[in-house]
Amino acid sequence: MKTVSDYFGSMVFDDRIMKSVLSAKVYASLKHTIDEGAALDPEVADAVANAMKDWAVAKGATHFTHWFQPLTGITAEKHDGFIVPSPDGGVIMEFSGKELIKGEPDASSFPSGGLRATFEARGYTAWDPTSYAFIKGKTLCIPTAFCSYGGHALDKKTPLLRSMEALNRQALRVLRLFGNRTVKRVSSSVGPEQEYFLITKEMYDARPDLRFCGRTLFGAKPPKGQEMDDHYFGAIKPRVAAYMEELNEELWKLGIMAKTEHNEVAPAQHELAPIYTTTNVATDHNQLTMEMMQKVASRHGLVCLLHEKPFAGVNGSGKHNNWSISTDEGQNLLSPGETPHENAQFLLFLCAVIKAVDDYQDLLRISVATAGNDHRLGANEAPPAVISMFLGDELNAVLEAIETDTPYKGVEKTQMKLGVDVLPKFNRDTTDRNRTSPFAFTGNKFEFRMLGSSNSIACANIMLNSAVAESLRVYADRLEGAADFDTALHDLIKNTIKEHKRIIFNGNGYDDAWIKEATEVRGLMNYRTTADCMPHLLDKKNVDMLTLHKVFTVEELRSRCEIMLENYCKTVTIEANTMVDMAKTLIAPAIEKFAADVASNAAAKKALDASLACAYEKETVKKLSELTDTVISKAEELQNAGIVLRGADGIIAESEMIRDLILPKMCELRVACDEAETITAKSYWPFPTYSDILFSVR
Ligand code: ADP
Ligand code: MG
Repeated sequence: MKTVSDYFGSMVFDDRIMKSVLSAKVYASLKHTIDEGAALDPEVADAVANAMKDWAVAKGATHFTHWFQPLTGITAEKHDGFIVPSPDGGVIMEFSGKELIKGEPDASSFPSGGLRATFEARGYTAWDPTSYAFIKGKTLCIPTAFCSYGGHALDKKTPLLRSMEALNRQALRVLRLFGNRTVKRVSSSVGPEQEYFLITKEMYDARPDLRFCGRTLFGAKPPKGQEMDDHYFGAIKPRVAAYMEELNEELWKLGIMAKTEHNEVAPAQHELAPIYTTTNVATDHNQLTMEMMQKVASRHGLVCLLHEKPFAGVNGSGKHNNWSISTDEGQNLLSPGETPHENAQFLLFLCAVIKAVDDYQDLLRISVATAGNDHRLGANEAPPAVISMFLGDELNAVLEAIETDTPYKGVEKTQMKLGVDVLPKFNRDTTDRNRTSPFAFTGNKFEFRMLGSSNSIACANIMLNSAVAESLRVYADRLEGAADFDTALHDLIKNTIKEHKRIIFNGNGYDDAWIKEATEVRGLMNYRTTADCMPHLLDKKNVDMLTLHKVFTVEELRSRCEIMLENYCKTVTIEANTMVDMAKTLIAPAIEKFAADVASNAAAKKALDASLACAYEKETVKKLSELTDTVISKAEELQNAGIVLRGADGIIAESEMIRDLILPKMCELRVACDEAETITAKSYWPFPTYSDILFSVR
């Protein structure tokens, strides 16, 4: 039998393959590029391209593609054949270094937010050698960045790589101050835990809302939901187990370390977590994982829903971004060390994150803002839209001792002195006991939990890397100029705690009282919707920081703000249109039909016996008749609101109208329809109900 290690990474042009098929010289040169970002020699590119092609062709590939991540949030590819005609009438397979390094997809219809006039619409893709090429189907996929001819980033990978570079630059400065001369590179790593729903294809096909919007727009609460918590970590059903097995196999072939899987809280909800890796690769892998989840589901007669909130009243799906920073020497900078010296360094990096999260709450909120995720943040299963950090009791006590120059309980000396005292060992918080915190320290990493399940993790990590790079820059500036390093360090840590402790909250984030305290007492930001937060991307402090670290240009930020708001408006508009359509052509006719049948039943009964009261029929027909009127009038109102929307003056105004006009009308329409569902006989209802869908996979 084939074991996992036999086929793990078999579809990846990884280090093992490179070492075996490239000459020592070419390999060394490529490695230099990969590890240290050195420019690539064109001759080396030719040799690599050729080896890549031979390897891919031997595995049955016929095409290659520059695989990239445009701002649509999904991945894009345009396939080119390897074949080139040969003079004898046959073909040869060719792939040059030039084709490997640069591509020119005709990608004029990807959103650019005004960065690209149509006459220069093509843009180009550039090879990212830090993420391995892989084979998908019969195509060699080359991970690439996507830019306009003017050099502006049109994708998610370019700013992510830039943010990693910014973090590297500033972290190295800080490490040098601690006397480390040997570290060459600092990078951030991520392990994203991915939640998803699995339902049967029959259910999916029968619901226009699922097909067009990825979520249900109607649906009364089922009699049994997640109240019993019996699904969470429960036994996995055979059909789901078969799905997970095949999914793992596909992911392993692609070198993706899918590691754990379990059922989630809601019925039909599951989770998959990979082993963490460099942010850039983790982002590529997460995109591939989402794609594979959907592909494998279709082979099993299932549909994988990645929407953040496919079912109202049932837990939504998120993505937990487990993030840490480490050196090329293997030191995790967010791991408390064994010596006082290491502890001081750890505390400084910890403070850098605290400061970053407080200073750039808005950027973190923006990085997870989509129409879909807005439904989740603020509902009582996901972290709220207010950002706060959980550090745990022990670490909190340590910080408090430093801030107030008072003794720490675990330490004998009178004061907690940096660089002298050893910190207590922290318990790694592997439990879910602090699940309500948007940003939790879990022993040696931070878990950012606000991401929606369909989000690319690129955005969150761009902001996280950049904001922490900025804290480190400020620290390095201060410490480099200090006369006495230890005193300056102590003051820096103490001051950071003083200034930013408002962001630390160890209580229940789902509590309404917390939101009140957070916003009214602590002055934390609370942007409930995408329309609320997105324009703040262009606030001066944010533009200054992101341009200073060369993560974005001003033009890129403007275009991104525009595209994200456009996405928001388009998504909700499609939902509104789908609702109107379903209400008018499916729901109202179904209610009418049922009401008519009930009425004629009453007439038939009366004909038999005129003394029968027919109370149920009368009541039902009356109620249904009122509901039909409400459904139709609410659908009309929604439709009209859509017309008003077209007159919006600019994208910000449009997004505000979506928030204030369209979304509330959608809710009103839904309430009427959902009520009708509860009194209409099931056999009349025009599509599967929540109970049908949520318990469809057996
Ligand atoms: P749990 O959250 O269930 O306790 P873990 O903490 O082990 O499980 O892992 C959750 C995710 O965090 C996994 O994807 C894992 O690879 C990732 N992870 C673990 N350690 C780190 C780290 N130092 N940096 C980034 N991600 C990590
Ligand atoms: Mg976790």
